[in-house]
Amino acid sequence: MADVYDVVVIGGGPAGYTAAIYTCRANLKTLVIAGVEAGGQLMLTREVENYPGFANGVIGPELMENMRQQAENQGAEILYDNATGVDFSKHPFEVYVGEDVYRGRVVIVATGASPKWLGVEGEKRLLAKGVSSCATCDGPLFKGTSTTVVVGGGDTAMEYALYLSNLVEKVIVVHRRDTLRASKVLAERARNNPRIEFVWNSVVTEIIGDNKVEAVRVKNLKTGEEQIIKTESVFVAIGHKPNTEIFAGQLEMDEEGYIKLFDGMMTSVRGVFAAGDVHDKKYRQAITAAGFGCMAAMEAIRFIESGELEKMYQVSTNISPSRT
Ligand code: NAP
Repeated sequence: MADVYDVVVIGGGPAGYTAAIYTCRANLKTLVIAGVEAGGQLMLTREVENYPGFANGVIGPELMENMRQQAENQGAEILYDNATGVDFSKHPFEVYVGEDVYRGRVVIVATGASPKWLGVEGEKRLLAKGVSSCATCDGPLFKGTSTTVVVGGGDTAMEYALYLSNLVEKVIVVHRRDTLRASKVLAERARNNPRIEFVWNSVVTEIIGDNKVEAVRVKNLKTGEEQIIKTESVFVAIGHKPNTEIFAGQLEMDEEGYIKLFDGMMTSVRGVFAAGDVHDKKYRQAITAAGFGCMAAMEAIRFIESGELEKMYQVSTNISPSRT
């Protein structure tokens, strides 16, 4: 079929673009459905100092623009639109973008995860101006400042607080309950750290500042009392949500919606691979996402070379590629 791509990559973050660079270099016709807001979470950050190869750091959106150009230079077609549905019960697999259908011999799912936000006044406006969802990305920008606020009581919040305690004089964790959700080890470590303070049973109701974060308004849920805490930065660590809605009923996922992997980077459907934050809730770094993209692409290349699905479909068009 003329309109069949060898590889359809869904997602335009580090995992998706890296996968496309590799599949194009293997001479496979590759389409990247990059999304309306292509670039993934690096578009929400400014300086990235932990992506190897940039001795003086790199601006997040610039890094993503370079990755996009690199994928395009290798021959990838890029579509700046959102995939709205998939049918992995057919082969070639079908990916829908509104009314349009894109077919692929293999699909690499790299739709990432989105941080959950508080949705309070000032949060969106001050994003990348003191508001962040990634301490490892943006924490060093606040090195030597007097106060930072971390919101949340899970493992991520504790990891952020501990990491930031090495950079900022005082870390204030604002948690909506009086018990931490975090694992015992991390919770204990944070509680025993003299630079970390806790504000319990409280939520941030406003982030204050003109062009950069200056303070947060915090409300105690038990007493209703409000206080203003001066701070230079706010790290929101209330969880991530994998972007997997369109794969419901098509790919196996865990209880939080992360895609399950089998045999390396393969999903529950043979020929459909996943890479990056869409399956990884442990590392969640740009560099690990790029690495997973490379791994998924290498497996996809081998899978295409094996001709497994084509052989299967020659035998019977009724066989679904699903494992079940
Ligand atoms: P999480 O476990 O879901 O914790 C989210 C935290 O944010 C909870 O304390 C929750 O409060 C709070 N929260 C949620 N919505 C909120 C809102 N609207 N306003 C205020 N607070 C809100 O998320 P996570 O910490 O990102 O961890 C995700 C997964 O990754 C977990 O399985 C975790 O164990 C794992 N992880 C592991 C490590 C590690 O082992 N080193 C590191 C990071 C993450 P409540 O407690 O009241 O619900």
